[in-house]
Amino acid sequence: MSMDGRTCVITGSARGIGRGIAEYLGEEGANVVINYRSSKGDAQEAVDTIETAGGSAVAAQADVADRAEVEHMREVCHEAFGPADVLVNNAGITADEQFTEMTREEWDRVMDVNLGGMFNCTQEFFDDVWNADEGRLINISSVVGKQGNFGQANYAAAKSGMFGFTRTIALELAKGGSTANCVAPGFTRTDMVESIPDRVLERIVSGIPLERLAEVEDIAAVVRFLASEESSYVTGEVIDVNGGMDL
Ligand code: NAP
Repeated sequence: MSMDGRTCVITGSARGIGRGIAEYLGEEGANVVINYRSSKGDAQEAVDTIETAGGSAVAAQADVADRAEVEHMREVCHEAFGPADVLVNNAGITADEQFTEMTREEWDRVMDVNLGGMFNCTQEFFDDVWNADEGRLINISSVVGKQGNFGQANYAAAKSGMFGFTRTIALELAKGGSTANCVAPGFTRTDMVESIPDRVLERIVSGIPLERLAEVEDIAAVVRFLASEESSYVTGEVIDVNGGMDL
């Protein structure tokens, strides 16, 4: 199960789920590119944690919605470790509003980061993943992309858009022997969920068969499997990690 020597780029990995994925992969021997947009201190802390555990990591600033900055991130990756074997498109934002109140700016902002960022990063790293021995593209979607969620028309549209994108890229990567899959987390204990009012959160947890939120490690463990060579015959799939929310 070792990730020894595999180079993994994880977008939005200074905090939250991305950070959990980065540390998990780093501690298993991967070379990790920690991407951040604004959380420089947290990114450095993630690098230090991985290095202390005996792994290798480098921080790369880039707003995934900005193609030139993503190109720079690829250069940082190539300089530090060479081409990437694994790209995890994790960076994502919300801008919640009941649909009738939602502005076009809130719609565009969520699309630019969640889908535009995935477009930019996947295109910049496509050749790396294609040429890698067992290359992997992993997109972090959401249970909301499947079920919808009140006040999240923009986010739900972006997250379900990731499903079609992933299935298509899986077809386009397949001849090179590389795979593309989605992970669809349920509600996970990060800053993103911190902003949900307690009474709403209680209602959400009461509807989860496993009766708890996910921890970042729950998501990272599944990404870890998909990033490894052991998942080589799994492609174009959406793996739900949601405590049974859709049962
Ligand atoms: P989070 O705690 O809010 O962290 C978001 C991360 O994304 C941060 O590291 C942030 O970096 C980065 N980011 C945001 N916009 C970016 C941009 N334009 N360019 C580069 N990085 C950017 O979120 P999270 O809960 O860990 O969520 C991570 C992913 O999982 C998202 O795609 C989210 O939609 C998905 N997800 C989350 C949950 C949940 O319940 N938490 C459930 C399902 C799916 P900076 O701090 O540097 O800005």
